Amino acid sequence: MPELPEVETARRIIERELTGRRVVAVDLRLPKLFRDSEIRDPGMLIGQTVVCARRRAKVLAIDFDGELSLLVHFKLAGQLAVIRPDGARSIAGHPVPKPDGPYPHKSTHFDLRFDDGTIAHFSDIRQFGWYRLMPASQVQPAIDAFKFGPEGTGRDAITSTQLFAALQRRSIPIKQAILDQTIVAGVGNIYADEALFQARIHPQQPANSLSRALVSRLRDAIEWALDMGIAQGGAKIIHQRAYPQNDFPAVHGREGEPCIRCGGTVRKITVATRGTYFCPACQRLRKPKTNVTTV
Ligand SMILES: [Zn+2]
Repeated sequence: MPELPEVETARRIIERELTGRRVVAVDLRLPKLFRDSEIRDPGMLIGQTVVCARRRAKVLAIDFDGELSLLVHFKLAGQLAVIRPDGARSIAGHPVPKPDGPYPHKSTHFDLRFDDGTIAHFSDIRQFGWYRLMPASQVQPAIDAFKFGPEGTGRDAITSTQLFAALQRRSIPIKQAILDQTIVAGVGNIYADEALFQARIHPQQPANSLSRALVSRLRDAIEWALDMGIAQGGAKIIHQRAYPQNDFPAVHGREGEPCIRCGGTVRKITVATRGTYFCPACQRLRKPKTNVTTV
């Protein structure tokens, strides 16, 4: 599933490859992707120039000069491939079976063709993703409706005070809490596991049992994990350890392997229905604070 780093990678590709380019043709082969769109006909984009690309949590907003914006959510398996006239490719999101294969392929449902010959292909093998074309003035209300919490990384990243306050109200496992997009936006399963490993916190630790110091460590670890993902271009790390040299991801997907920190064995458990990887030696369950003093 594309997570925040994949979506941020897509945003950077759009910014780099498409800003200043004018749409000359639109091919929509699966109209249901626009089922919830304020404007159902993406042909409205013809003649419009890309101004910028923004991201909030995992929602991507592409702004055009005609006061129109295209909101995109990759959901389970969305992908963007931008192909320049010289054939150079930039791909972000869900890996397709053959990233070097021809585009469009059978799961490429939507293309934007630009004035210089560049083509943006939007693919989705699962078809859970969505596209919403709307007047620019409706973007902020549409994003507000998701009730996203502060971002996990970037200029407006959550502070440890904000995170501590949000966690105080919840006794759910900390892993489940940081996956809650209303608490902190954009943390998906892989990055939650990596952040908890980095901060040495057990994924089942009750959210409201963490001290301020641990919450502060967790906040920094969330930012670190997301930044690592962004630095690596996102999706590449999901299906294979393409970067064994820097041990990231350190625990996710590594059940039965030795912990890189202590040599113990990485375990897999289920937390809030999600497959969860951690090192039981490095990430011990801490007893909740009580008023009883033991001598
Ligand atoms: Zn360990």
